[in-house]
Amino acid sequence: MSAKQTVCIIGSGIAGLACAIRLAVHGFAVTIFEKNSHPGGKINVLEKDAYRFDTGPSLFVQPQNVEELFKLAGEDIHQYIQYKKLDINCKYFYEDGTVINAYSNKEKFAKEVEEKTGEPAQHILSYLKESKNIYTNIGNVFLNHSLHKRKTITEHGILKALATTKPAYIFSTLHAANKKKFHDPHVIQLFDRYATYNGSNPYKAPGMLKLIPHLEMNEDVFYPQGGMISINKALYNLALKKGVTFNFNTTVQRIIETDNEAKGIVINNENHFADVVISNTDVFFTYLKLLNDKQQAKKILKQERSSSAIVFYWGIKKEFRQLYLHNIFFSKDYEAEFNSIFKLKNPYSDPTIYINITAKMEPGVHAPAGKENWFVMVNVASDEGMSDEAIISLYKKNIIAKLNRLLQFDIEPLIETETVLHPKLIEEQTVSFGGALYGTSSNSRSAAFLRHPNFSGRIKRLYFTGGSVHPGGGIPLCLKSAAITSQLIIQDSKKWKRYD
Ligand SMILES: Cc1cc2nc3c(=O)[nH]c(=O)nc-3n(C[C@H](O)[C@H](O)[C@H](O)COP(=O)(O)OP(=O)(O)OC[C@H]3O[C@@H](n4cnc5c(N)ncnc54)[C@H](O)[C@@H]3O)c2cc1C
Repeated sequence: MSAKQTVCIIGSGIAGLACAIRLAVHGFAVTIFEKNSHPGGKINVLEKDAYRFDTGPSLFVQPQNVEELFKLAGEDIHQYIQYKKLDINCKYFYEDGTVINAYSNKEKFAKEVEEKTGEPAQHILSYLKESKNIYTNIGNVFLNHSLHKRKTITEHGILKALATTKPAYIFSTLHAANKKKFHDPHVIQLFDRYATYNGSNPYKAPGMLKLIPHLEMNEDVFYPQGGMISINKALYNLALKKGVTFNFNTTVQRIIETDNEAKGIVINNENHFADVVISNTDVFFTYLKLLNDKQQAKKILKQERSSSAIVFYWGIKKEFRQLYLHNIFFSKDYEAEFNSIFKLKNPYSDPTIYINITAKMEPGVHAPAGKENWFVMVNVASDEGMSDEAIISLYKKNIIAKLNRLLQFDIEPLIETETVLHPKLIEEQTVSFGGALYGTSSNSRSAAFLRHPNFSGRIKRLYFTGGSVHPGGGIPLCLKSAAITSQLIIQDSKKWKRYD
């Protein structure tokens, strides 16, 4: 029996970790090279002045994607991580004083919407039913398989999925589809917001994105004890247990390629050979920096990037009883806001604000007693210009003015510690072009088909995984990306000649 086939993975983002676990369980010898001193990429933590913040993702849905990894590895997930279902998925605040609690109980949520806006509860329930149908019939095929393999068409039912696709899912925008379904503007805005779950614009993204609420409203939202960083820790510990080797503070300089085949990577000017190379770094930078292929890199940029964000991590010396774990303060003119993010690439004076407060779940643990850890995020263009100091100050001023208005409290004197994240820092820390949170956006009908495949068409044994490739960004899709990439490698490796 020959030695194990070797895999090297560039980057330890969540998709890199998940690929490593899947392939190690399958008998590959896996090594991860990570430029940072810690695993997890965009999932990270900040501890400052007795406060603790998740710095990146904060919404946890579809824990089954994580559970699947532990099942495959034959490990008990609860030995690694605990999580619980939320009773309120999100609290929505509007400028006219309307507050909607998105209860996890669908009927209760629908009733709440009817009471607060007059939109019939039945409209909400039938929308969620359709959302489930789209996810089950179409999403499942598109999100769990490579769109660039004949097998997906012949065996995995893509034609059947396309047959259930209504023209409106493709030819109508998410906003137009929502406007057709609901008459109340609060409700339309609430459901338009789901386009931002992959950094897109509801006025451009197709109606197909109606499937996103299914993940949250039919399948529930969860909170991992210890915050999102616990997901990271759990996967890192599982990878270690399955024999994955980690090299931190190690930047991969180049992918070794000869005769259209990947042979390994270069680190510290030394060659490190492997049977398989997986890039978990942004596909644009993979081509530009690791393969020196400027033409291909330029081609990637033809697809619009997702939005980025400015995040303020504020230690707040007060508790706000009206807030919960996830809170949204909507802008008055959503269309103007998205126009500003995606077209004008300008700062917007009345941004929609998202506040995440993990202290609500674990009082006294993530913030001192009687205080709260606020993760305050606004969506901005994935553009270096958005990291300008003057623009960040302007956002801070506008955010504070809006929160003062809607919470009827003077917020600024309560901020006892502050750290800021912006597009340039996101790019520096996680090598995402322009600081895009989710790789490419879904702002066109064909976006799903144009996203880069999980393998290289030209270079054999080179694969891609993570938010910048199929099926896209966000934790659930990155975990699906890892499953698709690993499956392709497992299949392809059966045909490979060994060199040893
Ligand atoms: C502020 C913010 C909020 C977000 N909110 C949510 C949310 O609520 N829910 C959600 O699901 N998603 C959210 N996301 C998106 C989500 O975090 C990402 O889609 C996901 O984490 C990306 O994972 P990935 O596997 O693509 O890799 P990344 O996290 O992008 O990691 C890539 C890794 O590769 C490493 N790397 C790059 N180049 C090299 C090299 N040459 N050599 C060695 N290592 C290298 C980087 O250092 C990094 O660690 C958010 C992201 C941010 C930044």
